[in-house]
Amino acid sequence: MKYHLDTIPVWDAYKEDTECPFCVLENRVETSYVDSFLGGSVMEPDVRIAVNKKGFCPAHNKLLYQAQNRLGLALITHTHTLETIKKMNERISKLQKTAHNSKNSVLKKFNLFNRKSIIGGASLKQSIQSFSDWLRIHHKQCIICDRIDYSLNRYAYTLMHLWEHDKEFQDSFSKSKGLCFSHLPVVLDMAAECLNSTKLAKFLQTLLPLQMENMDRLEKELLWFTQKFDYRNQDKPWGSSKDALPRILQKLTGKYM
Ligand SMILES: [Zn+2]
Ligand SMILES: [Zn+2]
Repeated sequence: MKYHLDTIPVWDAYKEDTECPFCVLENRVETSYVDSFLGGSVMEPDVRIAVNKKGFCPAHNKLLYQAQNRLGLALITHTHTLETIKKMNERISKLQKTAHNSKNSVLKKFNLFNRKSIIGGASLKQSIQSFSDWLRIHHKQCIICDRIDYSLNRYAYTLMHLWEHDKEFQDSFSKSKGLCFSHLPVVLDMAAECLNSTKLAKFLQTLLPLQMENMDRLEKELLWFTQKFDYRNQDKPWGSSKDALPRILQKLTGKYM
């Protein structure tokens, strides 16, 4: 898949002192999507349809709620709820029908031994499973997450382009601190898709050692953070360890720490 290049945000993120420039990018696009969903964009019919269908994941519902446009959020949520109720009714009536059939076949079991009771039991469990699966998917679906994923892929595509064609960016990339566990796979997958095998090998020779050096550095910073709690180390300098805990958590979990 081809994406349009968007070099300025990627350059800006790589100029920041951060454990993961893609967390910086994700924060930026997330803020702008949250604002746009509470602003005018949600009134556009195609956006409205997508929101009604998918809604938002727990993390983004929380951000939207905290943004203090309660009426905007209530309006979007109301139409999403109407559509959810419609789908849920279909699912629940299917489940009720299976439960009803299954109850009848269990009753039959007392009169007449037949395989239907076993089939009835199994299909009720399957129906519960499929309803639970639907609930789990519904709970996670999110139009903001979809857009963030698209933007991050676009930035990863841009990163590959800059790394291939811009010597200055290559230097900046080599001096960066690698990526977090949420964004490393995004970049790796894009590298595998965009680069020929020679360039891919060269890219990995830069990125992978960079990643491990920075994990080792964070481990040492975190260790010193824990040792500073020992009274014998009380007066020794913190060095760079004071905020080691949030930084290693970001490295391991991404921006949602
Ligand atoms: Zn990240
Ligand atoms: Zn989301």
